[in-house]
Amino acid sequence: MAAQGQTLMVRWVRRAARAVHPGAVARYLAGRTTARPEAPPEPADPLAPFQTLIAGGRAAGLQRPTLFLSFDCDTDLDFDAALEVKRFLDALGIKATWAVPGVQIEKGARTYQAIAASGDEFMNHGYLPHTAWEGDRYVSVTWYHEMAPEAVSTDIANGDAAIRRVLAAAPTGFRAPHFGLFSEPSQLDLVWGTARKLGYTYCSTTLPAYGLEHGSTVDVAGLIELPTFGSTAAPTCVLDSWTYLTDRRQYALGEQYAELMCETVDRIVAAEAPVLLTWYADPSHVAGQAPFERAMRHLVAAGVGSVYGRDAARLARAAAAA
Ligand SMILES: [Zn+2]
Repeated sequence: MAAQGQTLMVRWVRRAARAVHPGAVARYLAGRTTARPEAPPEPADPLAPFQTLIAGGRAAGLQRPTLFLSFDCDTDLDFDAALEVKRFLDALGIKATWAVPGVQIEKGARTYQAIAASGDEFMNHGYLPHTAWEGDRYVSVTWYHEMAPEAVSTDIANGDAAIRRVLAAAPTGFRAPHFGLFSEPSQLDLVWGTARKLGYTYCSTTLPAYGLEHGSTVDVAGLIELPTFGSTAAPTCVLDSWTYLTDRRQYALGEQYAELMCETVDRIVAAEAPVLLTWYADPSHVAGQAPFERAMRHLVAAGVGSVYGRDAARLARAAAAA
């Protein structure tokens, strides 16, 4: 009996010790009842917001993290900057797709003809200008959400014609000017519908939130949408050059651009996540800028290959047909 009672007592003490943390008892006896955290909280999985995107990438036949890099060439400053960026990327073996409004293709014909001759892809980016010089800086112009649907379709068709006429190339993809402000379902339907009529295989005209919800390559009735990408630190914030400029008149790119991109690449490569890193920049913001060059070298060192938009669309369409 005595032995049994002792055993029960030992069990009770052990159970009580597990139920009540000794530290809490000590604090209670010392008169301090405010509990301090016993351990730092578990770090959240930085890839948790990307699970749909990763599953979509796998379903679309993507084997590994892949870069789809494009350049938005909206101003005259981009003529020289684009060539400088192109030389830098060629040396690293990174493919680039160029998104240039028709008026800028005409104005900078020599530059863009030279780039097109190298085999790089040109994405239709509309015809009308996206910026105007005002006082001491460029300001944005041409807002699709302020235009009639017919005027939007016409601008897309005119952008297509400019690429064919000046560059002797046939675009297969489209991105709207200032696309973040043209993302209502009816607006996307207008863009995608016009692109389908032109025989395009893809658009890349949505913000990162669309990708987080729908995937890296999204089949929208036979057309592939390639949503732009954010970073693991800020999944819904597009990782473009404009957002991370520290000087928007003289164009200085912040270190944060490289930090976010390198960290994102490291995490996605470590997880072997089949994600399309759809990033874009403006050449005049990044040409010769250390954070951009560091980020690009980091992508190459991490073994991330690059594709044109048309390649990503072809892969996704083949997976959908299989
Ligand atoms: Zn633009």
